[in-house]
Amino acid sequence: MSESVPSLVSGVQAGRLSAEALTEGALGVIERAGPLNAFLHVDGEGARAAARGLDERRVRGDELGPLAGIPIAVKDSLCTQGMPTTAASRSLTRDGSARSGWRPPYDATVVSRLRAAGAVIVAKTNQDELAMGSSSENSAFGAVKNPWDLARTPGGSSGGSAAAVACRATPLALGSDTGGSIRQPAALCGVVGIKPTYGRVSRYGLIAFGSSLDQVGPLATDVRSAARLLGVLSGHDPLDSTSATVPVDDYEAACERGARGLRIGVPSEYFASGLSPEVERAVRAGLDALRDAGATIVDVELPHTRYGVATYYVLATAEASSNLARLDGVRFGLRVEAERGNLDGLYGASRSAGFGREVQRRILLGTFVLSSGYYDAYYAKAQRVRALVARDFERAFARVDAIAAPTSPTVAFRLGERLTDPLAMYLADVYTLPASLAGLPALSVPAGLSTATDADPALPVGLQLIGPAFAEASLLALAACVEAACPPSTPEPWA
Ligand code: GLN
Repeated sequence: MSESVPSLVSGVQAGRLSAEALTEGALGVIERAGPLNAFLHVDGEGARAAARGLDERRVRGDELGPLAGIPIAVKDSLCTQGMPTTAASRSLTRDGSARSGWRPPYDATVVSRLRAAGAVIVAKTNQDELAMGSSSENSAFGAVKNPWDLARTPGGSSGGSAAAVACRATPLALGSDTGGSIRQPAALCGVVGIKPTYGRVSRYGLIAFGSSLDQVGPLATDVRSAARLLGVLSGHDPLDSTSATVPVDDYEAACERGARGLRIGVPSEYFASGLSPEVERAVRAGLDALRDAGATIVDVELPHTRYGVATYYVLATAEASSNLARLDGVRFGLRVEAERGNLDGLYGASRSAGFGREVQRRILLGTFVLSSGYYDAYYAKAQRVRALVARDFERAFARVDAIAAPTSPTVAFRLGERLTDPLAMYLADVYTLPASLAGLPALSVPAGLSTATDADPALPVGLQLIGPAFAEASLLALAACVEAACPPSTPEPWA
């Protein structure tokens, strides 16, 4: 097994490892991983300079920070000063190429926190355009491939970040999750992914999708590495008005707490039709591991689960249509002038050229549900159902400390398989959307592999843990127990 981040950091701090060597290692794997198409921009020069700086500071005896020398990949929808930031959309480029991507004049708060903690940003990762999708096929720069099987999707939208960690290019990556975009790719790639409580991690500098749902969070090789990164990312940010002032727990200490005394609810709604038997088998084995570790498993009900997909796709598209109005060709990114002096023509031509099919579909849907005459029937109603979904969880958490379920109903599906059927794609999120609607913390931890058959290789399964607001620590305690029974694994060519 590869070393976890806390132990790598101790190595760097003690001079046993150099930041420069770790960075070279990451850049080497990134180069070998070219066929995955997981990276949109690799900053070899900047990363090497940052790593050298860290090694020099260590020699001088400076304090290096909790991520000292750790190479990290950052989802392209997060602003990185001086590095292209496109969110895999042509609309944020000058000429349609990733290279001509918008260069933000500032860092997202999470990126500043990474730098301050001594992390080395080596690359920006590919994703679904503007984070809309579940397969990373909606990227304007080509689909990402799953390191476990290049014919399959790594999930999405943070597919490049999950693939980067799965192929061990970097032990850590940042993703964003609006309806499952950290957890689902983590599950499909066999890595740990955490969507924090809404408000736990700053959204400042994240290119907005659905602002009432968006959260930034860690992807990592293992639970303790994820805990270290979550600790760095969490905390109040005056630049995000929805950022919480709740104190940050000691997430790493939580990983050693064990499961004894914790009550876990298992919702029957998450084990219904559509769940693959192989996923169910692995998740149930994970539940057994939690029981063996001393947790009590009980049944709970989340009756509004079945409205999750419909509710989410009204609210998220409504918010997206409003957020994306700013990408009009006037101030940012791609501009296509249809005819000089015609402003509507400029908007239409720029947005048609800048946005891919799925993004256009979402803007149309979102504009429709917000339009006068339909607002009450769709948007207002969805807001009310959102409250009912949240109330289901509140009732369950009166009885249990956490909820355990599958992250995704299936293992990684084949590239192209759902591309022409948006509804089939949207159903990939059926188990991740409810926690997003309720603003609750949720993570995905590897629960082993499916059984290989003649047609299919063994593929990773993720177990999802959902908790009450700001209970990330209990989720990590439980995830560490699942991991003890089911240690991290890497696909063959990358091991
Ligand atoms: N797959 C979901 C969607 O397409 C969620 C995406 C996300 O979490 N960013 O909207």
